[in-house]
Amino acid sequence: MLIYDHDLSSLEELASAWNVPGYRATQIWEGLYQHLYASWEDFTALPAALRSRLAAEFEISPLVPVARLDSSDGQTHKTAFRLADELQIEVVAMRYTRRVTLCISSQAGCAMGCVFCATGQMGFKRHLTSGEIVAQVMYFARELKLEGLKPTNIVVMGMGEPFHNYTNTMAAIDRLNNAKGFSFGARRFTISTVGLPAMIRRFADEKRQVNLAISLHAADDATRSSMLPINKKYPIEEILDACRYYTSQTGRRLTFEWALIDNVNDSPEQARAVAVRLRGLLCHVNAIPLNPTTGYAGKATTRQRALLFKSELERAGIPCSVRLRRGIDIAAGCGQLAVDV
Ligand code: SF4
Repeated sequence: MLIYDHDLSSLEELASAWNVPGYRATQIWEGLYQHLYASWEDFTALPAALRSRLAAEFEISPLVPVARLDSSDGQTHKTAFRLADELQIEVVAMRYTRRVTLCISSQAGCAMGCVFCATGQMGFKRHLTSGEIVAQVMYFARELKLEGLKPTNIVVMGMGEPFHNYTNTMAAIDRLNNAKGFSFGARRFTISTVGLPAMIRRFADEKRQVNLAISLHAADDATRSSMLPINKKYPIEEILDACRYYTSQTGRRLTFEWALIDNVNDSPEQARAVAVRLRGLLCHVNAIPLNPTTGYAGKATTRQRALLFKSELERAGIPCSVRLRRGIDIAAGCGQLAVDV
C-alpha cells in the first residue's frame, strides 16, 4: 500500500489499531510532508520495530522515473514515471528563475478525447489514487529541496480530467494543503477541466480557494464539439451556467483556456462571439497558440492573429492574456503529454 493514500486522521486510526501512541502518527506525517523523507530508514524518531512494520506494509515512493527530457532553454522538464501496474504518467516542471510550477496528472490517459490532445488520443487507462497524485508533488519537492527551492504553484493540468477523478484529486489537494504537513496554499493550486457542469457546481458548493480553469476553446457548440467531444453531452451554455453558479457561490474569478488553432477558433468573430457569452461573468481568458501533436493536423495560430484575438476580447471588456508556449521541443506543452519520451 501507498502511505500517501492516507491522511493524518487515517494514520491516527492506524496508530491506534497498531497499539502505538497517537503522536507517532504525527511523526510519520511530519516525516513525509515536512522532512520529505523518501525511505522508512530516514524516520529515525520512530522505534525500529515500528519502522520495520511500516516498511513491510507501506511504500513511500511508488513512482519510478523512466525518462526525463529537458527543453533546450533548460526551463521545462518532463518526467515520465512508471506506476506499480506498469502504466505510465508524466509530470512537467516549469522554472521561472526561483519559481517552479508543477503540472501534475490526475489519471493515466484520459476519457475526454479532445482531438488536439495527445493524452486524449491515447484513451483512458485508469484514475490515479490520491496518493499517486500526492507522490508526484513530493518527488519534485525532494528534488527541489536539494537546491533550496520548493514548488511555488501546482496545476492539475497534466494527463487526465481531474473532475472525472474528483474525489481522489480533492483528497490529494487537501493532503498537500494540510497546515501540519506540506502546507501548500490552496490558492496556489489550479485545476483545469473540460467543464463537467455537475462537478463545477460541487466544487462551487465546497467553496474551495483553489483556482479553476475551464477549457473553453470555442464560442459555438459546433466548433467546440469538433474539438472536445464531451461538448455534445455538455454544451457551452450548460457549462457557463455552472460557471455563473461558481462565481456567485465563491466570488472567485474563473479562467477560460483557449488553445488558438489557425482558422478554427482564432478569428475575430470567435472572439466577439465568446465575449457576448462571457459578458458579466467574473473571468479571464488565457489564450495560448496550440501545441502540436502528431494525431491532430491543426496548426498554431500566428502571433499576430493571437494578439488580434486578445484585442477583440479586451475591446468587449473581457480580460485576456496570450501565454507563451513552453516545452514544445520536448512535447511537454499543454495537450502534448502521452508518454512517448
Ligand atoms: S485536454 Fe485534458 S481533458 Fe482533454 S483529452 Fe487532454 S487531458 Fe483529457
